[in-house]
Amino acid sequence: MNPALLPGRPHFAYRGNRLFVEDVCLADLAKEHGTPLFVYSKASMLAALAAYQRGFAGRNVRICYAMKANSSLGVLQVFARAGCGFDIVSGGELRRVLAAGGDASKVIFSGVGKTREEMRQALAAGIGCFNVESEAELEVLSEMAMLSGATAAVSVRVNPNVDPKTHPYISTGLKGNKFGVAHERALQTYRRAAALPGLRVVGIDCHIGSQITEETPYLDAMDRILDLVDVIEAAGIPIGHIDFGGGLGIDYNGDTPPEADALWTRLLARLDARGYGGRPLMIEPGRSLVGNAGVCLTEVLYLKPGELKNFCIIDAAMNDLPRPAMYQAFHQIVPLQPREGEAATFDVVGPVCESGDWIGRDRALNVASGDLLAVLSAGAYCMSMASNYNTRGRPAEVLVDGASAHLIRRRETAEDQMRAESLVR
Ligand SMILES: *Cc1c(COP(=O)(O)O)cnc(C)c1O
Repeated sequence: MNPALLPGRPHFAYRGNRLFVEDVCLADLAKEHGTPLFVYSKASMLAALAAYQRGFAGRNVRICYAMKANSSLGVLQVFARAGCGFDIVSGGELRRVLAAGGDASKVIFSGVGKTREEMRQALAAGIGCFNVESEAELEVLSEMAMLSGATAAVSVRVNPNVDPKTHPYISTGLKGNKFGVAHERALQTYRRAAALPGLRVVGIDCHIGSQITEETPYLDAMDRILDLVDVIEAAGIPIGHIDFGGGLGIDYNGDTPPEADALWTRLLARLDARGYGGRPLMIEPGRSLVGNAGVCLTEVLYLKPGELKNFCIIDAAMNDLPRPAMYQAFHQIVPLQPREGEAATFDVVGPVCESGDWIGRDRALNVASGDLLAVLSAGAYCMSMASNYNTRGRPAEVLVDGASAHLIRRRETAEDQMRAESLVR
């Protein structure tokens, strides 16, 4: 492989001594827009989507981008224009889909705690399907649908009790999780759904977790779901579409998840073998569409030698990149312009007043203050999870398309942050 390429990130490469995304020099973007700065490659997103599309060639499938991974309007627009639907988890996300030009009829609404107001908004917008997570929610949704004079299309999220072998905070399909309806209660839940006047059963769904790097949990979940479809349809309730959720992992640090097309070729073979090949399908990928399409550019502020550790203090922090603090996650950190000579070992940390504010531990880096670094794999669950902790403005975002760079979000100011607040009179 060309050593200038970053493995798993084909649209990011060194040209000479400078890191480029597509045909744009990242250091130039940092100079123009400041740091920390999120930069996304449109070609990377579309290539990730194309891998799924190849796997599903000739099938009736809807790809619903799970937008909580990155809900910035400019990112949603890329997927809306590519024909994707969206998997949303709040009324706010629905507003974003509509603002980005997405098609409400291709929206599915997931989540264990939809409010009445969110249901009302989604019914008014005419979304495609509610992925319902409890019997109590079914009752309320039916009531809200009757009030709005519509029927709500529903699919029940079933918990297949499969271990996705990932971090416990991002496992969602095990018995102890708050998500979905237990496999054993699924038939009863479908009977209730079919009996409620405001509802129309259109599908079944599952989502077992995130950053899944093995194929077996998917195959196991598929078998469990198909067993249920057999049982529910035998009870006289036609199921309609099958939604297999999202969760496919990405290469953060030499991880080797299956490619989306290879994974789906095998899953579809299983589906065919069990006689469900002709079913309409849905999937809800998030991380795998955007994770490695994004980087966070940051400047080295200070190098601080310590008794036990050397610290490399950067201007990005846990409020911008929450995954290390939340899940002990690993992000590669690379220089935008590598230096000649020896590397030293640093803990790379941000300015936030928390010991949990670290971005990388024990990293070999050859850096000086003022150098620019890229935190890789920052397209998913970074900006969408970013906060204003320490009254830090959230970063700006740039979407690169070939040789052009579009500012899709300006840097947040202190005024932006205080806008909704007032002093006591
Ligand atoms: C988060 C989520 C997804 C997307 O998960 P990824 O790991 O980002 O692909 C899909 N479906 C549901 C219901 C989710 O909550």
